[in-house]
Amino acid sequence: RDEPVAGAKRVLLAAPRGYCAGVDRAVVAVEKALEHFGEPVYVRKQIVHNVHVVSELEQRGAIFVDEVDEVPEGAHLVFSAHGVSPAVVAGAAARGLQAIDATCPLVTKVHREATRFAGQGRQILLIGHAGHEEVEGTMGQAPERTILVNSPADVDLLEVDDPENLVWISQTTLSVDETMETVRRLRERFPHLQDPPSDDICYATQNRQVAIKKVAPDADLVIVVGSANSSNSVRLVEVALERGARTAHRIDYADEIQQAWLDGVRTVGVSSGASVPEVLVQEVLEQLADAGYRDIEEVRTAEEDLMFSLPKELRHDTSGTA
Ligand code: SF4
Repeated sequence: RDEPVAGAKRVLLAAPRGYCAGVDRAVVAVEKALEHFGEPVYVRKQIVHNVHVVSELEQRGAIFVDEVDEVPEGAHLVFSAHGVSPAVVAGAAARGLQAIDATCPLVTKVHREATRFAGQGRQILLIGHAGHEEVEGTMGQAPERTILVNSPADVDLLEVDDPENLVWISQTTLSVDETMETVRRLRERFPHLQDPPSDDICYATQNRQVAIKKVAPDADLVIVVGSANSSNSVRLVEVALERGARTAHRIDYADEIQQAWLDGVRTVGVSSGASVPEVLVQEVLEQLADAGYRDIEEVRTAEEDLMFSLPKELRHDTSGTA
């Protein structure tokens, strides 16, 4: 079965990949909430953007809803890792819901920047993708003071109140390079544009992009495990293509790999988005091994050891549940 080229077939496995600290915390928060409070526990939106994670939690008793008015009064409701606007928090309180806030602390950091800048009377240019839940939550911190900038091409169309009094912030899961291009264009138009105090694109997004950039130039094919609505996963595919991968595909599960993708392919790059459990990557590696890609080399560009403590609503002693 091993053809002459079989020895040359290999996998370059990007690292870091997969779960970030914010996703891990959010998923554990739902699990703990189910343990402490019992079923059902409601979750507003997908807790993280991964179909596998959501369906596993559903099987364990989590009920996913789109809005707070779908939740019975007084029930427990988890806010997803992507964060919510103050209006959503108020809506949950008005229904008497027991809210558990699993917003990633790095998203909360951006929310705080938005409220602070708005409080200083600045207009905020939020670089991010329209319709993404994180963007809705961040816009909602200061809706009257925030303008969304979807892409570099948007910059020319912007209408601002005072070009001297602008600050930019961003969604946490964007392409670093594209965001820098947007900022460059913004600064060309608005030379007084102020930078945020620190990066809003989170460490996990940046690290996964750096790793795939190292892998991509040597890869005939890149496979990114991640769901279609996962911003950072979709960015990994784009970054891989920009950095020289011949082709790149995003999949949720190993069985989506098509035989034709492997035609003439010697090197497969593999990575996964920040909301993807490692088991799904291992299944991809097994599938690739079956196709002759048994030689796996990890390409690591950073170590990660960040962990976040659980949402405060879950930090109490387990013996003292409601
Ligand atoms: Fe937090 Fe970044 Fe993970 Fe999003 S991708 S949950 S911002 S660490």
